[in-house]
Amino acid sequence: MGKYSQSISKRFEHTKINAGYCLICGEYRKLSVDHVPPKGAITITKVEQRHISELTGADASRIKGVPSPNGSKFKTICHECNNRHIGWCDGEVANVCKFLTTQIKDYFFYANNVSTLIFSKVDAVKFARAMVGHILSATSVEECKIVQGNSEYLDPLKSFVLGNDKALQNSHDIYYWFYPFNKHLSAKCVSFYNNGHIAPVSLLSFFPIAFMVTKKNEGIYPSHSNKLSLTDKALVLDLSSRGFEYAEFPFHGLKGNQMMAYTEFQTIVSYPIGQ
Ligand SMILES: [Zn+2]
Repeated sequence: MGKYSQSISKRFEHTKINAGYCLICGEYRKLSVDHVPPKGAITITKVEQRHISELTGADASRIKGVPSPNGSKFKTICHECNNRHIGWCDGEVANVCKFLTTQIKDYFFYANNVSTLIFSKVDAVKFARAMVGHILSATSVEECKIVQGNSEYLDPLKSFVLGNDKALQNSHDIYYWFYPFNKHLSAKCVSFYNNGHIAPVSLLSFFPIAFMVTKKNEGIYPSHSNKLSLTDKALVLDLSSRGFEYAEFPFHGLKGNQMMAYTEFQTIVSYPIGQ
C-alpha cells in the first residue's frame, strides 16, 4: 500500500470536492462532473489521468495514473454552466469529430489521395464555446476553493462561454490543427517562450483535433495550424505528416531556445488503458 501511494500520480490530490467556486460563473455552488474530452466526441473508455510533467523523467514508468472507468473527468464547474452553457454545444464538437474521423479513416486507407486537406462544416461559435468551456474546467479542484480573482486573460474566455459571442473579439485568437494521437491533452494556461517572445496558450487536444487559444495578435502557434474565426463555416485539417512533429504543441519537446512555464495541476494528460 505504501509503495502504491508513493507512485500514484499527483493528480490524485486534485479531484475530490462537493461544492466550491465554479470556474466559469464564479458562483459558490455544488459542482458537477464534466467529461473532457466531451462525451460523444470520443469513445468513452477506461482511462488514467496524470499530470503532463509525469509523462517524462526517470520515475515516469513507476507512476500510476488516476483511473476512471468511463472517461476523463473534472469536477470544477457548476451544473448550470456544465449543462446550460457547455453541454448543449458539445453536440457540435461530436458531429465535427465524427465527420472528420470518417474522412481520416478513408484518407489513410486509400493511398491515392490528391490532397492532404479534409473539411467539415462547423458552427464555429458553438464549437469554440464547448472547447473553451472544457479548457477552463480541466484543472484541479484547488482552484474552486478560493474566490476567482479578475484575470485579463481568463475573464473574456469565461464571458464567451457564458454566452457573449463577442467576448474574444479584442482579446484572443484561436488556432487548431490535426492531432493524430489517442492520448488527450489539456492545459489551462502555459506561458510559452520562443525567439524572444512570450505568450500564454491554452489547449485541448484529442483525436482528431488540437484546439488552442492564445492572446490576440501576440500569440505563439505551430506553423501548420489554422486560425479559427468565429464566423467560419468550415474547419480544414491538413493530414500531411509534416505537421506531426509539432502536433503535441506546446508539449512537443522544446526546440532551440524555447521554454515554457506552467502550473503542474493545470496540465493533464489522459489515455485509454486496458479493460
Ligand atoms: Zn457555474
